[in-house]
Amino acid sequence: MSMDETNPWRNAEIRFDTAAEKLALDDGMQKILRKPARELTVHIPVTLDDGRLEVFTGFRVQHSIARGPAKGGIRYAPDVSLDEVRALASWMTWKCAVVGIPFGGGKGGVICDPNVMSNLELERLTRRYTAEIIDFIGPEKDVPAPDMNTNEQTMAWIMDTFSMHKRETTTAVVTGKPFHLGGSRGRPEATGRGCMTVILQALQKFGMKPEETTVVVQGFGNVGGMAAKLMSKIGIKIIAVIEVDGTVHNANGLDIPALAAHRAATGSILDFPGGENLTSEEGLFLKCDVLLPAAKENVITSQTAGKINPKILCEGANGPTTALADQILEDRNIFIIPDILANAGGVTVSYFEWVQDRQGYFWNEQLVNSRLEEIMIESFQDVVHYGESHKVNNRTAAYMLALDRVANAIRSRGIYA
Ligand code: NAD
Repeated sequence: MSMDETNPWRNAEIRFDTAAEKLALDDGMQKILRKPARELTVHIPVTLDDGRLEVFTGFRVQHSIARGPAKGGIRYAPDVSLDEVRALASWMTWKCAVVGIPFGGGKGGVICDPNVMSNLELERLTRRYTAEIIDFIGPEKDVPAPDMNTNEQTMAWIMDTFSMHKRETTTAVVTGKPFHLGGSRGRPEATGRGCMTVILQALQKFGMKPEETTVVVQGFGNVGGMAAKLMSKIGIKIIAVIEVDGTVHNANGLDIPALAAHRAATGSILDFPGGENLTSEEGLFLKCDVLLPAAKENVITSQTAGKINPKILCEGANGPTTALADQILEDRNIFIIPDILANAGGVTVSYFEWVQDRQGYFWNEQLVNSRLEEIMIESFQDVVHYGESHKVNNRTAAYMLALDRVANAIRSRGIYA
């Protein structure tokens, strides 16, 4: 596996080029859509708890604001890079267009190791980062959300810092906030619920019964954990869960709430009384109906794509499959529900949160879930029908649909000069 294969921006470019060529997008439009509209790099001074001054580097990239304000998470990690943030920002543009919500795409990141930082240091970092990007963000401009290593608390700090500068409480500047600060019902489950909805659509398409379906989930966090919980509740068999330190497997289906309790008590999914331990690799290559990678990027590569064994691959994570793996999966006839569709439930309920904040009127959970389900089903059908009628795979179909929608918005708006 080459370094290039795992570069997320390179992967985003390859998918973009394939879709743009099939759409016969003109050169000028390709030039506009290929590059992010704006990229901001900031250097963030933070006083550490021991009195030392440290300077962190952060980014905010707005890939497109053609269809609405930029939308996308902020991640804190030691290996954040501008290329990664660019790729994630462009995926947000395509994701929002695939599900038809009125946002563009953005993403942010700060190079830091939150595991070695105190809560107070993280708060100071978040507030100063917000101050540095404050002219870039806003409910009508660019609306951040949580991503890797950021959470409800991070969003509350951003909202507060923004509001203090503007001298008015502005809840709609971020989504993924705590419920008591303008968050939405159903947001924590949204991405996992969206994955379940599209998986059920795929099962229906192939005439498969949920109660006879076996699923392997990689990543027992927000997306994978919620999806596993919701699917097991309706009788789908989760036969394995893969985590960083290994896999827990039970061919008859794992008791997911009990597994969650075991992890909460012991710190690991391993040695669970209701299953057997396997290595992470063994878990990934198990035969199953559905594989749901919901952990990180670059899991299904040119090295591993020939060894996985699902009928359906539902990409809960962003970028779990490299572009080089795409052809191998297509040759093996694996039905892919691509990330920009499969995990769009999160941004969809973020959109609901933004709408509710602006209306100052909050929906009950049932309404949130039913509207989410409606959008996910319609988007799944759109992508699959588009793929069938244009004779392309689901990933290319999703990109083509998205590119076409964003290009149309740009054509209608015209080029400001
Ligand atoms: P999370 O941090 O809550 O969970 C990730 C889980 O994956 C953790 O339990 C972690 O231990 C595990 N993990 C990490 N590396 C692993 C590895 N090599 N093998 C197996 N397990 C591993 O994160 P999350 O919010 O669930 O996000 C997961 C993915 O989904 C990311 O790619 C994220 O960008 C994407 N995503 C998340 C949302 C959302 O709403 N949370 C929305 C869209 C996309």
